[in-house]
Amino acid sequence: MIDFHSHLDLYPNPTEVASICHKKGIYVLAVTTTPSAWIQSSKLAPSNSRIRTALGLHPQIAHLRKAELPLFDALVNDTKYVGEIGLDGGSEFSPYWNDQVEVFLYILKKCSHVGGRIMSIHSRRATTPVLNLIKDIPKSGTPVMHWYTGNKTELEFANSLGCWYSIGMPMLSTQKGLEIVRKMPPDMILTETDGPFSKILGKPAMPWDVEQTVNKLAPILGKSSQSTEQLLHDNLKRLVQNII
Ligand code: MN
Repeated sequence: MIDFHSHLDLYPNPTEVASICHKKGIYVLAVTTTPSAWIQSSKLAPSNSRIRTALGLHPQIAHLRKAELPLFDALVNDTKYVGEIGLDGGSEFSPYWNDQVEVFLYILKKCSHVGGRIMSIHSRRATTPVLNLIKDIPKSGTPVMHWYTGNKTELEFANSLGCWYSIGMPMLSTQKGLEIVRKMPPDMILTETDGPFSKILGKPAMPWDVEQTVNKLAPILGKSSQSTEQLLHDNLKRLVQNII
């Protein structure tokens, strides 16, 4: 199982959740919302576990935490994964749009300077601006669009930039989402929960809930759940093959 976008550090009992993930052998990308959170969050992964911790600065708090960019610089050599980063075009965050762009662009440039990173990217109501910035900094690394909500034209743009997609249950629960997922290249997809923010039946989604996502994805891909799981593992292997 693969949960490529989990806020592991934001569960009420993160150590327990990390330990269960380790026991179940789940591949988890634990994203963080600030560089300072990365320091604690990266300690959650038991040694030899399949949990990796991404260094992030969430667009919704970019204006509050941009003073942590020097800390981002200090930590970026300690990880091959960056996220959650990106832009949020929701009206509640529009007053801080310039801060969001400044932070996202700064991070993309930094990633480029250090040889590229695998990046988990937020693009709510901001797909085109996010893709334009990725295009502007082509050596920033490998973008993995988290909870992609753009349209078909934007999907073609994203594909042309080499974007990957981490797919969660909410994307498979609307007609629009399903249509987009059907158009994604099957060899560029992974699964995610975005837990504990995303909910399943009113409860925070847990990393192992990706099993449901695999089961729902299988008929869309015309595969059994088992071959879907195999495809996702092959994809993950290919994504990280240049990463030590
Ligand atoms: Mn998230």
